[in-house]
Amino acid sequence: MSSSGIATKDLKRRLGARVVRTDEAARRAASFDSSKIPFLPDAVIHPRKEADIGVVLALANKFRVPVTTRGRGTTLTGAAAPLRGGWVIDMLGLNKIVINEEAGMTHVQAGAKVADIQRAAEAKGWFYPPDPSSKEYCTIGGNIACNAGGMHGGKYGVTRDFIVALRGFLPTGEYVEWGTATKKFSAGFNMRDLWIGSEGMLGVVTGAVLKLIPQPAARWTLLTSFRDETCALEAALALFRSRVQPAICEFLDRESVLCAERATQRTVFAGQAGKPVILLELAGSKSEVREQSKTVLAWAAAHATAHRVARNRDEAEQLWAVRRKCSGAMFELGDAKLNEDIVIPMRSYVKFAKFLVRLKRESGLHVPTFGHLADGNLHVNIMYHRANRAETRAAEKAVQLLMETVVALGGAISGEHGIGLAKTPFLRIQHSPAQVRAMQAVKTALDPRGILNPGKMFEVFHVWKHEKLAVKLPWDHK
Ligand SMILES: Cc1cc2nc3c(=O)[nH]c(=O)nc-3n(C[C@H](O)[C@H](O)[C@H](O)COP(=O)(O)OP(=O)(O)OC[C@H]3O[C@@H](n4cnc5c(N)ncnc54)[C@H](O)[C@@H]3O)c2cc1C
Repeated sequence: MSSSGIATKDLKRRLGARVVRTDEAARRAASFDSSKIPFLPDAVIHPRKEADIGVVLALANKFRVPVTTRGRGTTLTGAAAPLRGGWVIDMLGLNKIVINEEAGMTHVQAGAKVADIQRAAEAKGWFYPPDPSSKEYCTIGGNIACNAGGMHGGKYGVTRDFIVALRGFLPTGEYVEWGTATKKFSAGFNMRDLWIGSEGMLGVVTGAVLKLIPQPAARWTLLTSFRDETCALEAALALFRSRVQPAICEFLDRESVLCAERATQRTVFAGQAGKPVILLELAGSKSEVREQSKTVLAWAAAHATAHRVARNRDEAEQLWAVRRKCSGAMFELGDAKLNEDIVIPMRSYVKFAKFLVRLKRESGLHVPTFGHLADGNLHVNIMYHRANRAETRAAEKAVQLLMETVVALGGAISGEHGIGLAKTPFLRIQHSPAQVRAMQAVKTALDPRGILNPGKMFEVFHVWKHEKLAVKLPWDHK
């Protein structure tokens, strides 16, 4: 029997066959994430209690078994795929949520679903703002590991801004706590922030204390349209200069609007068909929203070709529904999508808008783009047909040029999804050799045997050269 086979047998003896699954169905289900490139693990572990994870990691170190932690597997980068086989720890069973009403904090286990945390907070008058579009599926552990963000990022921040403390296990199996449930903590290195965004490579998060803020008493939604993309981005800059901080400021370029319109058979904005739009939401106290809405209406009158205020929450919801449709609707432009979640500094918005026009023209591809203008996080979607070799090559070239341009403009190659496997070819565009060496030194110090999520982030992997599974996942667009 191989050493991995002996290790799995030993693990089953310690934790039981219900916790350690080696049947084909369980292994196949954990073999891939939303990137749909499969790597079959030897076993899938469903811990009953947090301490089980220490047992798994200690044994994995002894036998050098690769271990991949899995939340819900919604990551688009391949970060949760067990590239080197071994064991997958499925965190979904550890999902307790407790609200601490006085402190404005919530104590959660890593497998808790993000939307459940938001609902639990809301029931007590509190608000947990980080809101990835996948929130009805993804776990808080996965959000911490990727430093997930969403539409609220510009005003409130991302997952990192709401983490008070973390607990879990080092790759060696030792239990650790980074911080406590207090608002201040300056004792020692800030290892908590090192774990956030480490994509399951520096430890397994089992629990977290999250900061909550009071629920905003009022919300106000406005839809605006613009002559072209450059006008829209210039207008957004003018709005931010007027010191208005919208809770949400979503931009959809013309291609995204057209896709959404064709998919829904409805115009996004009557009389403004096919124009780029910005959807704005103000949130806060009633008086704050009232004051800011006056400034925003004056801004819209000066910069937009048209604007429309949502009269109530139902009408606002109809506007947001269009935004949610646009990502799936893009598949009419190609059966494959390189979905890049880059970040652009505000000072480079207009240059970037011009670059996108050039990228579309030179690649000959459709590149619908939408995203969060209040934090510069844009989703650039390079669409192509997988069976068309010329289009595939053009997409490869386009994504390389995109990443080089983003970094040259002072931006980031990822603002939400992380590196995983998909962004490994571009890591060294963002980071100098010294920066990469520093990250690798941290990895080696915490994980001397390299068992946790091996092969990710630092080794170059070309996702588009690998066959994808033809499976439909619950969060795939209908
Ligand atoms: C339709 C759709 C919309 C999306 N929208 C957004 C969005 O708006 N914003 C955004 O940021 N992302 C978005 N994503 C990406 C994805 O949902 C996030 O990256 C999310 O944080 C992943 O959570 P998960 O529970 O599915 O983690 P998984 O996909 O299972 O894992 C992701 C990474 O986290 C690690 N990990 C998971 N749990 C733990 C743990 N407990 N301890 C240590 N490491 C762990 C894994 O090893 C892996 O490296 C979207 C994805 C889809 C499919």
